[in-house]
Amino acid sequence: GWFFCYQLEHYARRSFLESKVLAQLAERDGLTGVHNRRSFDQYIERIWRQSRREQEPLTIMLIDIDHFKAYNDHYGHQAGDDALKEVAKVISLSAQRPLDFAARFGGEEFALVLYGPASAYGRELPEQLRQSVRDLKIVHDESDTDHYLTVSIGVAMVHPEANRSIAGAIQRADEALYEAKEAGRNRVMVRAPDAHIQTGRFRARQRTAV
Ligand code: GH3
Ligand code: MG
Ligand code: MG
Repeated sequence: GWFFCYQLEHYARRSFLESKVLAQLAERDGLTGVHNRRSFDQYIERIWRQSRREQEPLTIMLIDIDHFKAYNDHYGHQAGDDALKEVAKVISLSAQRPLDFAARFGGEEFALVLYGPASAYGRELPEQLRQSVRDLKIVHDESDTDHYLTVSIGVAMVHPEANRSIAGAIQRADEALYEAKEAGRNRVMVRAPDAHIQTGRFRARQRTAV
């Protein structure tokens, strides 16, 4: 009887640990090890609510590798995978504070979210990140932009308290990314809060501060 109980507890404990490890694995992208899209979707829901409650802004960045199709075509899919891993490492190193979050958004696109006011840290980070990727010096002879692999970054600063939806916020970052691509790639474009967002409590708070 005692042995049976021991065995049972042993198995229960092991499956508990295994399920925790599996849950963690499920949250990660198999190739790059950063959070996957599903994990990002869960995180953004949570941080959005917290951001509303605490009246803190969010900085949402979308990071897309430039001319990556050409890189794959020229250097092969395996080299493409290796490059993705290197870029993902640089991005995850940028998510340093407890509420910062880096994820693979899809394909050769990543998302990085920062919580709280756009400090000097938050303002400089996208540019540093862009530079750090270029400093990897991954040779890309088929790129029209540079001799090395580069990224374009779209940044949206949003105030969830001003009724904007998550989809709308991501859309803004995506628009900024598109502008960065159009403007020549290997650059950062920032969308500061627009007039629509300067409403409600955020604006009231600004007024009282003056
Ligand atoms: P742009 O500068 O406009 O972003 O051009 P692009 O070529 O990077 O964009 P496009 O969307 O045309 O191509 C993205 C490429 O990313 C196509 C696909 O082969 C590659 N890709 C997406 N996911 C993976 C992956 O997991 N591994 C590898 N090796 N390649 C991937
Ligand atoms: Mg791309
Ligand atoms: Mg893309």
